[in-house]
Amino acid sequence: MRLGEAVGLVPTMGALHEGHLALIRRAREECRHVVVSIYVNPTQFGPGEDLARYPRPRRRDLALCRAAGVDLVFAPENLYLPDHSTYVEEMECSQGRDGASRPGHFRGVAIVVLKLFNLVRPAKAYFGQKDAQQIDVILRMVRDLDVPVKLVVVPTVRDPDGVALSSRNRYLSPEERAVAVEFARLLQQAAKKKINPVLWLGRELKKAHGLKLDYVELAGDRLCAAVVVGKTRLIDNERVRNKT
Ligand code: AMP
Repeated sequence: MRLGEAVGLVPTMGALHEGHLALIRRAREECRHVVVSIYVNPTQFGPGEDLARYPRPRRRDLALCRAAGVDLVFAPENLYLPDHSTYVEEMECSQGRDGASRPGHFRGVAIVVLKLFNLVRPAKAYFGQKDAQQIDVILRMVRDLDVPVKLVVVPTVRDPDGVALSSRNRYLSPEERAVAVEFARLLQQAAKKKINPVLWLGRELKKAHGLKLDYVELAGDRLCAAVVVGKTRLIDNERVRNKT
């Protein structure tokens, strides 16, 4: 193995679950040293979003990292100086979908990911397929700015009931969890449709009880959707068989 391949970075906001652990395991397989960053990045939260109440179970996270063979956990208190005034803005992939519903979100993601890359200098960095638009934005940023890192995309990990694992799932009441199961089920079903999965899923989600549809969109070969259940925003995506 070349020395340049030594460090693999898994950027996270903590409250680790099996989805994060899948990224860590993949990094463990491919890199000599695995660094996990845990940072609830304020710049990617909009006003009125869940920055303050975002779960921060630090001890549990550290124990999970230790058990998974992580070499170093980078958990800074704060990454921004009071007069921080430099931003990175990807102008194309960050349009629409979550970019439209969460103005400024991808600008915050891009700046923190670039800062983490500069601080940790990984040869490889690991991201989850669940956040499909985030991957598009980071891939484009890395390409456009010649950032010397290789991105690895890891498939979405789901609970046995089909719901994509997310640190935000813990906000869901049992009733809301049932709605999240229905959301995942409809998305999986739509992705198998031979004709117009976007239209079908949009129609079904509008009919479904207990959720507010944010968007349904096809991005490349991925059917992407976001809904709001109670106060919790859920996103998910699945590869479609047929794009027409
Ligand atoms: P977060 O802590 O939510 O910012 O997520 C950190 C990383 O874990 C991101 O690259 C996410 O895409 C990834 N991730 C989150 N949930 C899942 C999941 N269910 N399956 C795979 N990767 C995930």
